[in-house]
Amino acid sequence: MKRIAMYPGSFDPITNGHVDIIDRGLRAFDEIVVVVATNPRKQESKSSLFSVDERVKLIREVFKDEPRIRVDISTGLIMDYARDNGVSAVLRGLRAAGDFENEFMMASMNRGLNPEVDTFFMVTGHDWFFISSSILKEVLQFGGSVAEYVPSPVLEALGKKRS
Ligand code: ADP
Repeated sequence: MKRIAMYPGSFDPITNGHVDIIDRGLRAFDEIVVVVATNPRKQESKSSLFSVDERVKLIREVFKDEPRIRVDISTGLIMDYARDNGVSAVLRGLRAAGDFENEFMMASMNRGLNPEVDTFFMVTGHDWFFISSSILKEVLQFGGSVAEYVPSPVLEALGKKRS
């Protein structure tokens, strides 16, 4: 049976940190569905840079040569998505200590909702441990360059947005 994992997040936009987790995750899973999930906490803020459709398009572009990656959208519970789509694992990335508490709560809650789906954590690649989409957005707001931290389709899209 195929081991399908989902990698949920807001991906606004996808960064090299996310790409690293996905690439390494492919060693453990047959397929990964990158799920752009709307996070009510983040959604409320006016800090969205790309629309959900734009984020999906960018992720597809980044993985266009990788048939084992699919990209989808979810507006509901991660565990409902898993049940409806034959997903047996949730993949998450862990950065510095700050991620732990929140991830621990989410994984525990998700396991309560569906004990058949486990959450797997991968520690970030050391080049990316300080990168988050939010910090990149802050840098961009002040006109800084994020070229080192995002895949090229994102960099191009950022250039277009700026002009
Ligand atoms: P953020 O907005 O914090 O960058 P997302 O909501 O898109 O992140 O996160 C999706 C998942 O990717 C989460 O598990 C998050 O911890 C992980 N992640 C985000 N950035 C990195 C990174 N630089 N290295 C490893 N994992 C990361």
